[in-house]
Amino acid sequence: MLNNCLKIVHLFKNALLGTRCVLCKTPVKLSPNPHPNCICKDCQRHLPWRDSPSCPQCGNPSWGELCGQCLTKPPYFDQTIAAFHYRYPVEKLIAAYKYRQQQHIALPLAQALIVTLAQQLKQRPDIIIAMPMHALRVAERGFNQSFELAKMISLALHIPLQQCCRRIIHTPPQAGLDAQQRIRNIRGAFSCGQDIRGLKIAIVDDVMTTGASLNELARQLKQHGAAHVQCWLVARTEHHD
Ligand SMILES: [Zn+2]
Ligand SMILES: [Zn+2]
Repeated sequence: MLNNCLKIVHLFKNALLGTRCVLCKTPVKLSPNPHPNCICKDCQRHLPWRDSPSCPQCGNPSWGELCGQCLTKPPYFDQTIAAFHYRYPVEKLIAAYKYRQQQHIALPLAQALIVTLAQQLKQRPDIIIAMPMHALRVAERGFNQSFELAKMISLALHIPLQQCCRRIIHTPPQAGLDAQQRIRNIRGAFSCGQDIRGLKIAIVDDVMTTGASLNELARQLKQHGAAHVQCWLVARTEHHD
């Protein structure tokens, strides 16, 4: 009920005031629900969509087959789907969303992922989980950016968002660390408190860099009996560090 009221207020506001593309600032007409358009069509076309074949398991560039890395030392997650390469202007959008509190940017980012999932999703998960953030970090930033994205995706896909894991160690930020340091930094950082045996789970996160956090979370989920784990990302860097 409250949600519907908010939607109506939102539509009215946009009808009266119009809305602007978050990238080029030109006014855009909002289509009615469910997908108001916050990045204009022109800008959308020029975004760094990941449309070339990649490794289905980790998302590294490949001919659509498992990459060498997944063949020799596979990650704990089974599949990776990412909307964008982590490049301009997507990296700027994500930074503005995360670090400059521009929360309206969550909507176009989530929509891009929803569009990508509509094309690429092979295994529909039973539940969605957002990459957990430590309570201290949430207090610092004011919100968990992945959780906000996951809420929108859960609503659009009608898959329950169930935050079954917590981040129990307040690790230093992963940015600036090399691949090995990231693995050490994140080890044992998550704790799973619910019965997830036999469940297919999708982890939502904003960016995958080396995949160390996602791999550690997937390890924890599998250890607790998850049957299948996939990573859903707004953006992914093109190569491992
Ligand atoms: Zn635009
Ligand atoms: Zn791979």
